[in-house]
Amino acid sequence: MTPTDPIANLATLIRCPSVTPAEGGALSALEAMLKPLGFAVDRVVAKDVGTPDIENLYARLGTEGPHLMFAGHTDVVPVGDEAAWSHGPFSADIAGGEMYGRGAVDMKGGIACFVAAVARHIEKHGLPKGSVSFLITGDEEGPAINGTTKLLQWAADKGERWDACLVGEPTNPDHLGDMIKIGRRGSLSGRINVNGVQGHAAYPHLADNPVRGVLQLTQALMDPPFDNGTESFQASNLEVTTIDVGNGAVNVIPAKASAAFNIRFNDTWTAESLMAEIIVRLDRAAAAGSLRPDRAPVRYEITWAERPSHVFLTRNNALIDSLSGAVEAVTGRQPKLSTTGGTSDARFIKDYCPVVEFGLVGQTMHMVDERVAVADLETLTNIYETFIFSWFGHAAA
Ligand SMILES: [Zn+2]
Repeated sequence: MTPTDPIANLATLIRCPSVTPAEGGALSALEAMLKPLGFAVDRVVAKDVGTPDIENLYARLGTEGPHLMFAGHTDVVPVGDEAAWSHGPFSADIAGGEMYGRGAVDMKGGIACFVAAVARHIEKHGLPKGSVSFLITGDEEGPAINGTTKLLQWAADKGERWDACLVGEPTNPDHLGDMIKIGRRGSLSGRINVNGVQGHAAYPHLADNPVRGVLQLTQALMDPPFDNGTESFQASNLEVTTIDVGNGAVNVIPAKASAAFNIRFNDTWTAESLMAEIIVRLDRAAAAGSLRPDRAPVRYEITWAERPSHVFLTRNNALIDSLSGAVEAVTGRQPKLSTTGGTSDARFIKDYCPVVEFGLVGQTMHMVDERVAVADLETLTNIYETFIFSWFGHAAA
């Protein structure tokens, strides 16, 4: 039986309880769908110290170029309060025209539709004129250390090269066809530690209150804005996410204070240029001292979170036009080309080939009663099938 029905494909995947980091049978189920279509399937286990071993899957159909990759994940977030679900989180029950289950939209649904789209393409047109591959991780919702990055590296090491990638994450806010993601903002996090001198609140001249220092520094991070946005991106935004002092005594000036921040940044910056700008602002604020007149500069250290996410913007017209044309042909809607939202695994893939993202409507992702309109599965399959046909036409031209 060929997996041309996205509804059946999705039901099979939802019934595998692949709560991150468990494989839960989901990759085996996917392998069983892909092999009859002619895919060569590799199961790749990635390991790293301090993180769970993760099963991943790479499957390729064809040996020639052009080469189109579909990327995604079969792991899902925990179900939360199972009793609060109106249908079992691994039941794939259909009620009121919707299929229920963890991963229905994020993102077993996207995988189910792409598999069906490839199967239909083969039935109608034979094998694609080139190669199609699936790069599927079991570690997107977890630490993301043993997932897409390692799988890409593993595949590249054995000579795999791609011309374009579609990530099937849920990108549509309200309706199928609303939004394609053609880039993502970067993300950078840090923590500032301010050292003061502990003392009596009645004798501040004998102490140095680090709360004054941390306020000066965080103020300088929040104002002025880093930029006003660019042609393709909204303005970069920094949020101070915590200020910690941990002082329980009202008559004691504490010795230390710290603050953490996260900034989502656009293509005005690189992670490196942004770090440099932040240091400039902090040094200036540390020396300025409106809250601490006649004092020496604030003594602070900054530590950066280990891996910043880099900003990227895809400019590959064959990819973007094929996808947005397919969305419009099937839904009649012209999708917005967007760079909003959080980071995704596309940030790793962009180092290998142009990447865009398009999947289901994301409204119920990570929620109790995650579910997908059954009609959307058919529509997304049609979009993917149209896209595959069009992309190979473009790429071969
Ligand atoms: Zn996801």
